[in-house]
Amino acid sequence: MNLLQLPTALVIKLGGRALDDMQALQPLLKTVLNIQQSRPVVLVHGGGDQVSALLAQLGLSSEKVAGQRVTPAAHIPYIAAVLAGDVNSQLTALAQQLGLRSVGLPLFAGGSTYANVDASRGAVGIPQPGDKQLLVSLLEQGYLPVMSSLGLSRDGQRLNCNADLAAACIAELLDADLVLLTDVAGILDQQQQLISSINAAQAAHYIESSVVRDGMQVKLEAALAVAQKSRRSIAVASWQDPQALLDLAEGRAAGTRIEF
Ligand code: ADP
Ligand code: MG
Repeated sequence: MNLLQLPTALVIKLGGRALDDMQALQPLLKTVLNIQQSRPVVLVHGGGDQVSALLAQLGLSSEKVAGQRVTPAAHIPYIAAVLAGDVNSQLTALAQQLGLRSVGLPLFAGGSTYANVDASRGAVGIPQPGDKQLLVSLLEQGYLPVMSSLGLSRDGQRLNCNADLAAACIAELLDADLVLLTDVAGILDQQQQLISSINAAQAAHYIESSVVRDGMQVKLEAALAVAQKSRRSIAVASWQDPQALLDLAEGRAAGTRIEF
């Protein structure tokens, strides 16, 4: 069997403060269990806030440029410990408790992706799709892959990847739908009103005028790039709204739709 015989997979990115309070994720993961009855799901998560908290405790600091962390290579052991260790195992454990057959993995598991070094940001990687066989095998057997955004370069260097880029890369690998869950209901305009859909030209305008900035700019740019490649629209919605996720999984509108 290959993925073509499975229903289109859904890649869900979890970010924001969702990962601070795992118990608050229960309603969302119950919805994932529900969605998995009809189509395969992959979870991809970051953990920037949790990394910042550990670095602060250790008296180490790192800065962000345009929403993305600058990572000294010396911070990689701590980043791996938080992303691929603590956050990944907590999320995998909670999913399993709720009846999901979750499998925790780094972004490079089975060669799923490889990352190009973004030298301007230190040990930061831009993930590229690799070999989909591991994920296809897991999805065919009903497992829920839970992937952290810890990447690997071709020459074996572990790299910190932005989780929006990581999720977009996995969606591209699997030719899957993509939902980016964050702290806000979607992309907001100047008046803080939800934008229900946005195309590339409108996105350029919102970025140019700094209405969309920081982490949301990274998210929007990653989503636009993969939307154009996959010819699928991508959604941004809130992790606190499981109904929005269910609506999106079942083809109804919710949050902000990023059009190709
Ligand atoms: P995540 O961890 O989910 O990737 P980020 O902090 O990276 O979250 O990005 C989401 C944040 O982007 C929002 O919480 C908000 O502070 C910021 N942001 C900037 N511009 C916008 C906008 N136009 N609409 C919504 N959020 C925006
Ligand atoms: Mg972000």
